[in-house]
Amino acid sequence: MPNQERPYTSVPGKTYSLFAEGDDPERYYATIKRLADIFLQRCPGEKRLLDLIQEAEKKNWLRGLKTTKAERQTLRFIQRTLRESLSTYTRKVGEHLQSLPLAKRADSTLTTTEEQYHLYMLEIELVNRIYKEEFQRAAYKFALIAHCLRDYRPECRSEKGDIEAVCQGCTEDCFIRLGSVLLQKYGIDPYISIEIEQEGLFKKLKREHPSIGALGIACIPELARGMRLCIRTGIAPVGIPLNTNRCARWMSQAHETSFNLEELEKLLI
Ligand code: SF4
Repeated sequence: MPNQERPYTSVPGKTYSLFAEGDDPERYYATIKRLADIFLQRCPGEKRLLDLIQEAEKKNWLRGLKTTKAERQTLRFIQRTLRESLSTYTRKVGEHLQSLPLAKRADSTLTTTEEQYHLYMLEIELVNRIYKEEFQRAAYKFALIAHCLRDYRPECRSEKGDIEAVCQGCTEDCFIRLGSVLLQKYGIDPYISIEIEQEGLFKKLKREHPSIGALGIACIPELARGMRLCIRTGIAPVGIPLNTNRCARWMSQAHETSFNLEELEKLLI
């Protein structure tokens, strides 16, 4: 298995960490799958549940215009259950929000609230369930891997590709290399996501490849928003969150992070 080459290191994230209950994020994945199953009993149909939790992000009065009383009760149950089960992974969100300088408060990613993190976690799980088959059937599949997953010890030798930078595999101990090798094995073109304007890119790729799937590996807020953009553009998305958020956008300088290679492979088979 790929992670035998490089075991995960349990490190703290700026706001969240999937290592919260041990040295391996497996427990997080078991928890989010179990929660999704519970909520689907109360609100059957992944697509319907996804629509409902996206309503939860709206202001109370606005939500009231579009949802029934029963749906609002279900939403309250979901939010309460998510808070009870997932707060252990998002303990540092409050501290981060309190210390955020005024100049950064217009950044909707940096200002993600703890409740939004929990809803995004569920959203990612539901989107993976809804779009996994369509993604796998797509004639063209590409992946965008967060640049902060690189091994910071050597000088990165990635090269410019047709969409974004492409890993050259300069070091064994690099999660971008490990992910790229796995993705290529399943016929997916991997790219390192650095600073592309995603909306324009996705529209262009959709025009070129009518049957298209995208796989994202990014921090939780970025991944959830990237998936929404894909869906709006007609691209079938799946994705894996980073185990922790530690790039320079979150911290004063970039620190290494990781993602779960076993969960990635489950999306591909
Ligand atoms: S293995 Fe790839 S992504 Fe990692 S440092 Fe080398 S070229 Fe960069």
